Amino acid sequence: MNSDLWIEEKFEDFMGLRLKVEKTLFSGKSEFQSVDVVETKGHGKMLLNDGLIMVTEKDEFIYHDMITHVPLFVHPNPKRVLIIGGGDGGTAREVIRHKGVEECVMVEIDEMVVNACIEYIPQTSHKLNDSKVKLIIGDGVKYVEEVVASEEKFDVILVDSTDPIGPAQPLFGQEFYDNIFKALNDDGLVVSQGESPFYQSQMQTKLVGILNKAFPIVSLYNFNNMTYPGGLWSFTFGSKKFHPIRDFDETRVEASGLEFNYYNKEIHRGSFALPNFQLKKVSDFLKG
Ligand code: SAM
Repeated sequence: MNSDLWIEEKFEDFMGLRLKVEKTLFSGKSEFQSVDVVETKGHGKMLLNDGLIMVTEKDEFIYHDMITHVPLFVHPNPKRVLIIGGGDGGTAREVIRHKGVEECVMVEIDEMVVNACIEYIPQTSHKLNDSKVKLIIGDGVKYVEEVVASEEKFDVILVDSTDPIGPAQPLFGQEFYDNIFKALNDDGLVVSQGESPFYQSQMQTKLVGILNKAFPIVSLYNFNNMTYPGGLWSFTFGSKKFHPIRDFDETRVEASGLEFNYYNKEIHRGSFALPNFQLKKVSDFLKG
């Protein structure tokens, strides 16, 4: 074993995040991307797609709490939830903790990601075989088109995707969100991985602009992710009926009996308070 192995995720040509690696557990190349799982010294096991950090055991709870519990506590009675992407299984794990959820459909394009996480990162993947989780290996864009054609509906859709490259590119387009709107019940809502307010502000603004055209209620909320470029990251929020703060019944958080390492009712409200540099770019598109 190379005792001085480090992995560096470079962001464009001016920044990088380095993590000390103890050993490589899995390395593969699928039809869609390269998939690696490594054991790091300080962050536990880590999944990388195309060399980009997806999850680490040490901080994945923050991302998964925030993509899941914010929308599932805004919607008063989410029964059917759809996840697009999310191959590591962390989002599905959190979704099915909500007792009212009857079915969680997860559509991940890359079977290699799912298999690598089942084998090497049980912390995130261990609920993928739960009877409430219906795992489909396929393209989320096509799946949503099929849902629209079949008139099947979801209460909440979570877009837990990679950055807008390769198969994830259409997940950042207007057509996809117009279909998401149609795939949701009349009181449904969608939350999506919304990129960095610092370093991908153009993409973030584009995403809220797309949501603005499709949904009557559009918002954005932030969280910290130590292993994504810049640390500050966002989720977008599009909703047909429920406002993320006005319609948030905080008594449901305690009544759920669930315990969280990051999410709580104050974080829920506070995460929608955006810093001015971000607000200036997106405020024209936020509504409701
Ligand atoms: N938390 C992570 C992040 O933001 O860096 C994302 C986690 S998850 C690993 C992202 C998944 O989205 C990847 O496994 C990728 O294969 C999947 N994905 C990308 N495009 C997709 C598509 N069109 N349909 C379904 N899944 C897709």
